[in-house]
Amino acid sequence: MNNGIPIPAAQPLARHSLQAQVKWGDHVLTVGGNAPVRVQSMTNTDTVDAIGTAIQIKELALAGSEMVRITVNTPEAAAAVPHIREQLDRMGIHVPLIGDFHFNGHRLLTDYPACAEALSKYRINPGNVGKGDKKDRQFGQMIEAALRWDKPVRIGVNWGSLDQELLVHLMDENSRRTTPWEARQVMYEALISSAISSAARAQEMGMKASQILLSCKVSGVQDLVAVYRELARRCDYPLHLGLTEAGMGTKGTVASTTALSILLQEGIGDTIRVSLTPQPGESRTQEVVIANEILQALGLRVFVPSVTACPGCGRTTSSTFQELAKQIDDFLRAQMPVWRSRYPGVEHLKVAVMGCIVNGPGESKHADIGISLPGTGEAPAAPVFIDGEKKLTLRGDSIATEFQTLVENYIENRFGTAKAIVEAD
Ligand code: SF4
Repeated sequence: MNNGIPIPAAQPLARHSLQAQVKWGDHVLTVGGNAPVRVQSMTNTDTVDAIGTAIQIKELALAGSEMVRITVNTPEAAAAVPHIREQLDRMGIHVPLIGDFHFNGHRLLTDYPACAEALSKYRINPGNVGKGDKKDRQFGQMIEAALRWDKPVRIGVNWGSLDQELLVHLMDENSRRTTPWEARQVMYEALISSAISSAARAQEMGMKASQILLSCKVSGVQDLVAVYRELARRCDYPLHLGLTEAGMGTKGTVASTTALSILLQEGIGDTIRVSLTPQPGESRTQEVVIANEILQALGLRVFVPSVTACPGCGRTTSSTFQELAKQIDDFLRAQMPVWRSRYPGVEHLKVAVMGCIVNGPGESKHADIGISLPGTGEAPAAPVFIDGEKKLTLRGDSIATEFQTLVENYIENRFGTAKAIVEAD
């Protein structure tokens, strides 16, 4: 029984983080604060192959990645970075590059100033910057480079490369507690302490808090949620979110989606990456597609038109509607790199491809343009609904082609530049 109070709409909470600026050329991308949650990805090419890397970065950027990280692990890779930047600029690909440094980053950033300058942000792993007294010195050298070139940094802790000295110290401390914490809780504390104490050190050296992003990546969903809730409670740095080593295919997709969705709904996370292991032959852009879909499903961002399709059941035994749904979805995605500028707002388009008369007409009416295909035993006709009204019925063998043309015409009429100018007048 309703008690007279309207049911509140569910929506992601807001977290008030600082805002960082990631710059390249004349471009600036804001991260954190009131900026949209940003999508990141990482290349898996050899950075030394400047052309191959630039091509993959282009693919990732066109798929919707707003920042792309590249590994900078050798002098040759560092030397290639400025060429990758130049190549991207020549191709008109306006995406900032993030350098991923481990072990020798202090030397590479010092010895290759053109690399340090061409990158827009440095990722520093405090667990991999050196041991003993080298740790502070080498971490300091990387921060000095960030200060010299006015670059933000992400202090990215990963449980696979956690600062072992810090972990041992915290475990010793734990053994002296009257009621020792679980080993897992000590690990959480080590991850968070490593990130926050490194950020404090960077600030002592002169970095602004707004130039520092943090991440503490683990590979378990519940571990990630626990760590980030506490990290968000203890600091207001922008947070980069990702489930590390999420795995392949369905497992990696589901685990990343589950973990990121819980945290994003709580307002935690200013940038995200889906660390998916590509299946053999699968495009690297799949991790971007999934990151975009997570943000779009949560209502945080809109990247591509949505295609509503029913799952199918015994009422539609042919694969026609599955094929049409896939064809339309693939078509819309493939066109988006061009359509983004040609048809402003097209990403908000809603298309429905439904399998039979049960939910087909209703769902199609909710969409901007929808088709209800005939189920088994229904008359071989497919009514098309445009802006909530049945406008025509398609029949015969070329329903798929005709419906795609109708979608294209709808987009041109509604989002085309000429139409936009007329409406503005
Ligand atoms: S719309 Fe029809 S075919 Fe699709 S799931 Fe519902 S009943 Fe089955």
